[in-house]
Amino acid sequence: MRVVVVNSGSSSIKYKVFALEDLTTLMEGLLERIGPGEARLKHRRLTVSDDYEEIIETRFITNHREGLEFILDVAGRYPTTRDAPREFFGFGHRVVHGGEVFRKPVIIDDEAIRQIEDLIPLAPLHNPPNLVAIRALRELRPDVPNVAVFDTAFHQSMPPKAFHYALPSEFYRMHHVRRYGFHGSSHQYVAKEASRYLGIPEEQLNLITLHLGNGASASALHGGKSIDTSMGLTPLEGLIMGTRCGDLDPAVHFYLSRKTGKSFEAIEDILNKESGLKGICGMNDMREIQRCAEDGDDQAELAIEMFCYRIKKYIGSYYAVLGRVDAIIFTGGIGENSARVRKESCEGLTALGISLDDHRNEEASFGVLEIQSEESRVKMLVIPTDEEREIALQTIHTIRHAAGVKGVPNL
Ligand code: ADP
Repeated sequence: MRVVVVNSGSSSIKYKVFALEDLTTLMEGLLERIGPGEARLKHRRLTVSDDYEEIIETRFITNHREGLEFILDVAGRYPTTRDAPREFFGFGHRVVHGGEVFRKPVIIDDEAIRQIEDLIPLAPLHNPPNLVAIRALRELRPDVPNVAVFDTAFHQSMPPKAFHYALPSEFYRMHHVRRYGFHGSSHQYVAKEASRYLGIPEEQLNLITLHLGNGASASALHGGKSIDTSMGLTPLEGLIMGTRCGDLDPAVHFYLSRKTGKSFEAIEDILNKESGLKGICGMNDMREIQRCAEDGDDQAELAIEMFCYRIKKYIGSYYAVLGRVDAIIFTGGIGENSARVRKESCEGLTALGISLDDHRNEEASFGVLEIQSEESRVKMLVIPTDEEREIALQTIHTIRHAAGVKGVPNL
């Protein structure tokens, strides 16, 4: 049977089809530009010769339901050429905000949909397109269970002293203002991989996990559970990101509004879309920024220095929070690929038992890579993340659990 993971954004749908038995990726793809104009679908299928064939099709697609029909159509016409059963076991949906209601994945029924709808004010850009895909697949394939896997759920283990903001408490009681954290599937996935690689049960591991992609977040995991994380009420807080500012004096917002006459909405947009690396040096792609820095671009150099300095501050504070750190994990496009960022984020931390081996750090990343020096007390691992795989696992687990099947295979 097959497990399909769906990540539905405002104008795009990403999907991955896994074999239930061993989680081989049978097909995957991305449909972009849903709305006015032509949408483009890039579909890849696993062939009998063990490589992936790419198919590109365009079509006018005005909404997500049509988009999913288009995907099912293309996937039907270009299925994997591997001999794999075609029935669907379940659809796993990435849902961005689960608030305090969802501490774990859930099989979607009318009540779950209503609860996800209630959370729209906390994630106005993300939860609605997630819901559209959920509704459309329930209609198109009513025989297949749908599971919602929340970006926030992994961080629900944070204690009150970590998740509360120092604000009048009615803001929490009345308006649910608190730290939620995101990238949960990624932090959880790399923690499991670290446990497997190190041969130490998750319950005994203290980790600092650094997800460094276009969006970036750090987490402190105690005994495998999140006890703090850098993103907050929204994914704007914390580390410097491609276009998001991360931590900021909240007064900047009001000051800028008074000085420039811009509305709060306009400033919110700038903090989300025009800030971070892009704000500092005009570019948000770390590869390009590194190339420019090597060519002597001072602003690109500053952007990398600030990016790494912020990460280093989080490593220091999460070290203090955890007391004992077994490993620091780098993941996400930048964490997996940028030796410079890894090196500079950990420079000068030998007193904490954190030191990198330059040679290992420069080695091309493939699978799990151990990059600490001989003297380092803390292990340092580069682990490629796979959020879709984690969502597939959670989907399988949730459906089996609901069906009363005990124990989930350790895939
Ligand atoms: P997303 O959060 O959109 O999933 P990714 O995890 O794919 O993003 O990360 C994208 C970031 O990773 C970009 O800034 C990109 O430049 C960076 N990146 C990818 N490969 C490299 C590399 N070899 N060196 C430096 N940065 C890289």
